Amino acid sequence: MAEIQIKNVAKTFGAYQALHDINLTIADQEFMVLLGASGCGKTTLLRIIAGLETATTGEVWIGGRRVDHLAPKDRGIAMVFQNYAVFPHLTVFENIGFGLRMAKVAKDEVTRRVERVASLMHIEQLLKRYSGELSGGQRQRVAVARALAMEPDVILMDEPLSNLDALLRLEMRAELKGVLADSKTTAIYVTHDQVEAMSLADRISVMHQGKIVQAASPIEVYRNPAAHFVASFIGNPPMNFLRAEPAGSGKWKVAGETIDGPVSAATPLQFAIRPEDMRLADHGLKARVKLVEPLGAHLLVTCDVNGTMIRAVLDSDLTVKVGDILTLAPQPDRVRWFDPQSTLAVA
Ligand code: ATP
Repeated sequence: MAEIQIKNVAKTFGAYQALHDINLTIADQEFMVLLGASGCGKTTLLRIIAGLETATTGEVWIGGRRVDHLAPKDRGIAMVFQNYAVFPHLTVFENIGFGLRMAKVAKDEVTRRVERVASLMHIEQLLKRYSGELSGGQRQRVAVARALAMEPDVILMDEPLSNLDALLRLEMRAELKGVLADSKTTAIYVTHDQVEAMSLADRISVMHQGKIVQAASPIEVYRNPAAHFVASFIGNPPMNFLRAEPAGSGKWKVAGETIDGPVSAATPLQFAIRPEDMRLADHGLKARVKLVEPLGAHLLVTCDVNGTMIRAVLDSDLTVKVGDILTLAPQPDRVRWFDPQSTLAVA
């Protein structure tokens, strides 16, 4: 059992507060992705869990044991980083077995484990090669294999695929997901790439300015963003936002249209809809087309709605020209509402 609990963790660097009161529980064998823009604190949080950084306040628990006073090697974790430190003068076999030899594991057992993880990562034919002779993708496989060979309770990964080209990233992403599910390891994976996060994670923790704004399944953060930041960060292109004025009894005026919304609020809200959740219809938002981008699978159309720019993803067979006036109907069950003051979602 390697459940991870992060309790009230904060981190300051001098006067700068990099993390604010982080509370997060990661279940045994869960694949958790920390997602956020550069500088939001995800690497700092990962390093605190690893023991490479000390929290200013708070506690880290792994498998029911408080570990924040323990050295990294005593925490039952293995790490894979962006610049995978694979030793070029060692063979692939020696690289994968490196940590095991340092931990004085018996020779036969090292061989057994190296061969097992090499086969998992499809590099068994490379074991005798020097790592300096490998491609970037192969080196990355060695780094992951080395971490898995330790049979850790927890594997921590910081942008491990970011040095690979797009095609290889895609391939490694799929493999990593399968291998980690089989290895029954609890995983924390840091990335700023939302597609990577969506594809890998059991749950995503969306981070912003040193806080976790939402921790939920990929589909939940996509469909039900808890805050404006999540709605604007997840999805490409992001959600559209329009000002909504209360018109009483759960009715709202959005760009001249009356739309059903929350009954609980009486002050202006932000109406939000994803570009892919609008259809051409007889009734809806009047949108003047400003830009048409034919992207193959669909048409991305940027429009002016009452002075606010929004985007719609439409069928690629449609003929749409700059200057056209479209009537865009938001799919009612996909509309979300945000409080402009708190920035939080309103039910
Ligand atoms: P990136 O994706 O760019 O790596 P990140 O979300 O992982 O970003 P962190 O590396 O955790 O962000 O950094 C969070 C904030 O803390 C940043 O503003 C960074 O400048 C600051 N920071 C990190 N390490 C230190 C340090 N050792 N000393 C001072 N400030 C630091």
